[in-house]
Amino acid sequence: MYFLAIGILGACIGSFLNVVILRLPQNKSIALPASHCPHCSHPLKWYHNIPLISWLMLKGKCAFCQTPISKQYPLIEAACALCYVLVAWRIGTLTQALLLGTIFSLLLALSVIDMRYKAVPDALTLPALFLAFLYRLPLESLQNGLIFLGAFALLRLSVSALAKKEAMGEADSIIAGIIGALLGIQLGFIAIYIAALIALVALMLLRKKGYELPFIPFLSLGLFIAWIFDQPILTFMEHWYE
Ligand SMILES: [Zn+2]
Repeated sequence: MYFLAIGILGACIGSFLNVVILRLPQNKSIALPASHCPHCSHPLKWYHNIPLISWLMLKGKCAFCQTPISKQYPLIEAACALCYVLVAWRIGTLTQALLLGTIFSLLLALSVIDMRYKAVPDALTLPALFLAFLYRLPLESLQNGLIFLGAFALLRLSVSALAKKEAMGEADSIIAGIIGALLGIQLGFIAIYIAALIALVALMLLRKKGYELPFIPFLSLGLFIAWIFDQPILTFMEHWYE
């Protein structure tokens, strides 16, 4: 029952984030107008807005004009639901689980926005960072987060100066701060290492000239992988140092 409630909450958050992903980068209001079909602009009924269920009931089509609805909607809702359940399953305290689930969901939304627009709104990165600072109270997350944020900002400035062009985005430093706050120094480094590694592979596979790879999806993936495999990674590192 507990996990079902958490999963439903996650799906609702995902549903809200779909609106945020669609409207925030275009500076449109999140609250108004009420949900409508992007194709025929017909306002949706409340029962067209139930996360996951509505999409399945409508078989992925608008109820009014039959235009296919993007699969991104149910995918994000399902991913958020899964995220919350996974987090609640691994973390005993409800406050920490809700905090972490929300941060992961925000990172998911940020990843999608970064892939689409190559820029992300501070209105999403800063709340995520603030929540991450609260993860381990009173000061542990704040301290680790600020160390990572500072180190990444410095790295960005030096690389930009050397390359004589802007390297990485400002938002990447904020995501690094979130990683430090949630994982701590040791595991945080591993997360960024994993992120860089996957990004490198993606870069080699894509090989498009002048293609600017959005980094937030990779940082988020690195964070998620390091968080899931924290115990094996830490055990491995202990043996490594011996
Ligand atoms: Zn329609």
